Amino acid sequence: MKTIIEPFRIKSVEPIRMTTPQERKTLIRDAQYNLFGLHSQDVLIDLLTDSGTGAMSSAQWAAIMHGDESYAGSPSFLRFEAAVKNLMPFEHIIPTHQGRAAENILFSIFGGPGKNIPSNTHFDTTRGNIEASGAAGHDLVIDEGHDPECLHPFKGNMDLAKLETYLDEHGDSVPCVMLTITNNAGGGQPVSLANIRATAELAHRFGKPFFIDGCRFAENAWFIKQREDDQKDRSIPDITRDCFRVADGMTMSAKKDAFGNIGGWLALNDDDLAVEARTHLIRTEGFPTYGGLAGRDLEALAQGLSEIVDEDYLHYRVRTNEYIVERLDALGVPVVKPAGGHAVFIDARKWLGHIPPLEYPGQALAVALYELGGIRSCEIGTVMFGRHPDGSETPAAMDLVRLAIPRRTYTQSHADYIIEVFEELVKIKDSLTGYRISKEPKIMRHFTCQFEPLAG
Ligand SMILES: *Cc1c(COP(=O)(O)O)cnc(C)c1O
Repeated sequence: MKTIIEPFRIKSVEPIRMTTPQERKTLIRDAQYNLFGLHSQDVLIDLLTDSGTGAMSSAQWAAIMHGDESYAGSPSFLRFEAAVKNLMPFEHIIPTHQGRAAENILFSIFGGPGKNIPSNTHFDTTRGNIEASGAAGHDLVIDEGHDPECLHPFKGNMDLAKLETYLDEHGDSVPCVMLTITNNAGGGQPVSLANIRATAELAHRFGKPFFIDGCRFAENAWFIKQREDDQKDRSIPDITRDCFRVADGMTMSAKKDAFGNIGGWLALNDDDLAVEARTHLIRTEGFPTYGGLAGRDLEALAQGLSEIVDEDYLHYRVRTNEYIVERLDALGVPVVKPAGGHAVFIDARKWLGHIPPLEYPGQALAVALYELGGIRSCEIGTVMFGRHPDGSETPAAMDLVRLAIPRRTYTQSHADYIIEVFEELVKIKDSLTGYRISKEPKIMRHFTCQFEPLAG
C-alpha cells in the first residue's frame, strides 16, 4: 500500500478551539509578536516544538500507576535505569527533570571561563549552559549542513577536518567534544554511525571525552538504517547501542525520543565524574534515584523507550515530514531537504528575500503562519542565534522556520491543512514585512523578547 497509516488508534482526544484570522491578529499583537507568548488554546495546530508535546500510549499511562514515589531506592528508578542501559550502555544514569538540567550539570563540570566546546551544532539550551559557565561553544557541522538544498544523506555530520584543526588550535582549553543527534538546530538532520565513530576516535586521539546529545537518537538510528549501506539489516536497538558505545557519556531530553511529557538524564562512564555530577544533582535536582522527576515519570519513560524504537512508528514518523516537504517543495516553498526527523524547516531567508536577516524573515513567516492558519511554529535563525555574548548582533547561518511535529499527536488531515495554509501564503508572501526587537533578555532572547512590525 502507498498510504502509510498512523500506526495507532485514538482512545482519548483533546478538542481544538477554533479561532478566526481576525482574532489571531489581535492575539499575536497582544503577545508582542512572540509565538512563545500565545496561550495554547489560541493555537489550532501547535508545531512550536516536539518537546514534551507528544501523546503517551495507553501502556505508558498504565505504567504511571506503577510509579513508586519513595525518596530513595524506588523500583521505578531501577526500571528506568534498565530501560536506558538497554539502549545506551553507560555505567551511570542520572535522571534530571529536563535535558537542560543534564547540560547544566555537565558544564558545571566541564565548562568555565576560557574553555572551548565543539559540536556539530549546539542546541540553544546547550549553548546557553556553556556560555553561562563562561565557556564558548563552536559549531563544526559539515558545509553541506548549511546548504538547505543539498541532498547529502547525513547533513548533521561533524566536519572531521575542522574538528581536527580545532583540537590542534585550542589544545588544553577543550574539555570535551559533543555531537547532537539528530542535529536539531541544523534542520533535524542525521549523523551517520561512521561519523559518530570517527568523531569519537578523533576526540579520544586528542585525549578528550566524547559526549552525545542524544535527544532524537531513535530518529537518527532510523536514518542510519535507511541510508547507511552496511546498517540496513540491523535493528534500531542494535544501531542505537553502537552509537552510544563509543561515547563517554550523554545528555538527553526525554521529552523527545523517550515519549515523555517531562524528563531527561545525564549518563557517564567515569566514576569520579559521576560522583561530582550526583553531588550537583542532589543540590539542584534531587536524590540520584529520582533526579527532578516523580517515580511515575520514570515509569512512563521506561515504557516510552521500548516504544520509540518501533520501526512502524519511526517509518510513519519520518514519512509525515517527507510528505509535507514534498508538497511544500511542489508549491515552490524553499524547504530544507531531505526532510528532517522531527520537523519540517522552511528557508525563510530565501523565500522572503525582500526581508533582510536583521529584520528577521523567519519571525515574519512564523507570525504570518499563525495569523493566517493558526499554526504555531518556531523561528530558528537570527532571532535565536544572532545575539552574541559581547553584545553584537549578526545574521545567523540560516533563517529557518521550524514546523516541529509532536509525536503521535496530529493526523494526515492536519498535515493537509498545514499544506493548504502554505498555498494561501504563497499568494501574499511578498506583502509580509520584517520586525524589530524592542525588548530582549541577556541570553536565549527568542523565548521572551518582544517584537514590533516594521512598516511595509
Ligand atoms: C530539547 C533539546 C535540548 C534540551 O532539552 P530540554 O528537555 O528541553 O531541557 C537539548 N538538546 C537538543 C538537541 C534538544 O532538542
